[in-house]
Amino acid sequence: MSKIKVTDLHKQYADNHVLKGVNLEVKDNEVVVIIGPSGSGKSTLLRTLNGLEQPTSGSVVVHGEDIAKKDINIDKVREQIGMVFQHFNLFNNLPVGENIMLAPVQLGKMSKQEAKQTAEKLLKVVGLEDKFDAPVNSLSGGQKQRIAIARALAMNPDIMLFDEPTSALDPEMVGDVLNVMKKLATEDGMTMVVVTHEMGFAKEVADRVVFVDQGIIQEQGTPDEIFNHPKNERLKSFLSKVL
Ligand code: ADP
Ligand code: MG
Repeated sequence: MSKIKVTDLHKQYADNHVLKGVNLEVKDNEVVVIIGPSGSGKSTLLRTLNGLEQPTSGSVVVHGEDIAKKDINIDKVREQIGMVFQHFNLFNNLPVGENIMLAPVQLGKMSKQEAKQTAEKLLKVVGLEDKFDAPVNSLSGGQKQRIAIARALAMNPDIMLFDEPTSALDPEMVGDVLNVMKKLATEDGMTMVVVTHEMGFAKEVADRVVFVDQGIIQEQGTPDEIFNHPKNERLKSFLSKVL
């Protein structure tokens, strides 16, 4: 079953044509890793998948509904799609537990009591069970990112989007965050779209790797196809720089 289906997606900012006809399908339980040079449109593509950006043209069908349509209840769609950003976007004035509890309580999905239990459970999942009352500012970058993942999971999404979740982290923090993501993919079967420069993660965890350059999907395939038998010249050149 297809969870996301993007058809002939174009995005233009003034005269900057950022996405030039992207077609992408993400199936249930699939882990799709998007790679490509900076400025190629990866974040823009990811952000259209949960309505943070409106397409200039084309369709973005999520759970069978075209979310590019004006009359759609985008909040309802977003409740089912968790997103994790490069810079965490946590509420620094709230302790960790409150960060995780906020959305489900405010949106009326859970009582405070249920949200607290959920937060405690999710803190175990990300390996930070002792941080419930900790101020966000006391955490390392890697810990913050694992809290951001827990916060996204609190809404019980069935799709998770990650936009360079480890790019802002010190190298020694990267592994912990990738391990949480890997567990999510392999143990929970989460449907995931991950933009990353971590080629090791792509090789190990991706079902499909998508190479975006100049607003076009230049090539996509299994990790073996993309990393060991690339065909596209731009992909070959990109890989020669990052591997
Ligand atoms: P990537 O994530 O691959 O680095 P982005 O999707 O962030 O690429 O950006 C692609 C292009 O779109 C860049 O030229 C960037 O300047 C432009 N862009 C991204 N977001 C905006 C925006 N909100 N307004 C105007 N231009 C944007
Ligand atoms: Mg980006």
